[in-house]
Amino acid sequence: MTVKTRFAPSPTGFLHLGGVRTALFCWLFARRHDGAFLLRIEDTDRERSTQDSIDAILTGMTWVGLTWDEGPYYQTQRYDRYREVAAELQATGHAYHCYCSPQELEDMRAQQVAAGQNPKYDGRCRNRRDIPAGVQPVLRFRTPQAGKIVVDDLVRGRVVIENRELDDLVIVRADGNPTYHFSVVVDDHDMDITHVIRGDDHLKNTPRQINMIKALGWTRPEYAHLPMILGEDGSRLSKRHGAVNVLDYRDQGYLPAAVLNYLVRLGWSHGDQELFSQEEMIELFDLADVNASASRFDSAKLSWLNQQHIMRTPVDELVPLLQEQLAIEGLDPDGGPALEIVIEAYRERATTMQELAQSCWYLFRDFDDFDPTAAKKHLRPVVGEALADLRDRLALLQRWTAAEVHDAIDGAATNAELSFGKLGQPLRVALTGGSVSPPIDTTAALVGRERGLVRLDLALAFIARRQAAAG
Ligand code: GLU
Repeated sequence: MTVKTRFAPSPTGFLHLGGVRTALFCWLFARRHDGAFLLRIEDTDRERSTQDSIDAILTGMTWVGLTWDEGPYYQTQRYDRYREVAAELQATGHAYHCYCSPQELEDMRAQQVAAGQNPKYDGRCRNRRDIPAGVQPVLRFRTPQAGKIVVDDLVRGRVVIENRELDDLVIVRADGNPTYHFSVVVDDHDMDITHVIRGDDHLKNTPRQINMIKALGWTRPEYAHLPMILGEDGSRLSKRHGAVNVLDYRDQGYLPAAVLNYLVRLGWSHGDQELFSQEEMIELFDLADVNASASRFDSAKLSWLNQQHIMRTPVDELVPLLQEQLAIEGLDPDGGPALEIVIEAYRERATTMQELAQSCWYLFRDFDDFDPTAAKKHLRPVVGEALADLRDRLALLQRWTAAEVHDAIDGAATNAELSFGKLGQPLRVALTGGSVSPPIDTTAALVGRERGLVRLDLALAFIARRQAAAG
């Protein structure tokens, strides 16, 4: 048997992190078993499905690198096939037309609730003979009234449902559109899906789907229902908890490898290992190690993992990502230092590529104002003389390298009887406008001689004005 899994999103919104986690588990399971993974767009809900959402799904899946071997299939292109199977179910007595009006269904429901029963369709059209004129019927599946369905879920274990708890679900709507339950059964069969891996919100649907599979005489796939992802407050992960759209993470400069690494750990573990490369995930992933209880989303951990992946990714792969982020910030890399060197200097301290781009802006844009707090604290008249001395030493450097800058700071600081840091910090404010950057000699090397000296002059003028104002 060749393993075949599918990710089957309904295109009614953006691609949610929970969806990506489901897709990842399907993908890993297929890759791990040398099987196939397919993508199916479940767009039968024509009112809620949008092209924007389809595009977001395809873009998101491509961005995280969950490549599919087949598809994307679109359910709206398979209506003939659903009609054919619906006709078969009807011909074999497994489905029947229901003419009940919405009002009738509502009354039925109200009566059942009033009688303290669980509301469900009572099957009144099962043997209906009086066909009302002018009513477009729906098609309902005739669920067996006795017996039970046993599912040995690969994550949840054995789940047993009595058929009498289920009702006759609609499989084709009055307008001829198939419902989700029906199209999913037909597709999983036609597409030879061996393992249905999906969110556990679908667990309750599984027995209904299995009844249809049985009526059609098809083989049922294995099922694995994945635990929910909760937000930090314990409720189901949603927008309230911050970004849940996978493309927001792309836009914020997260690496796809980090997002997948984070998501694989939501519900799955391998000892206490946290960092996984894609190859390791494929090699180690097993549904048997998926935890049945819900897992909690932790954005701090995602940031930590992103930083770890930024540290481990070859610099040349990070360059285009930094370019994108600089463009978003309106910064032009031309005329600044080589991005490879910037990344080397910054990657230890940036949790996202966005943060990296935002921290190093001063390498790509001139300024004539310092951060007021930093300037107030560090550009003080007492260091004016030492900073002027340092400027002269720097101007004379043969080569503007971190090592030579370091020696110059050392010389000027010793001369003024200041510690290295006491002079380094004013220099940092002068060169970067603020008080945070990589080691000061590295920072100065990145800024470069020409820009560096201009900025030092600006800082000396600032100090002079301050001194004059103080009288
Ligand atoms: N289309 C369904 C959804 O987006 C998933 C169906 C399935 O995996 O069976 O929730």
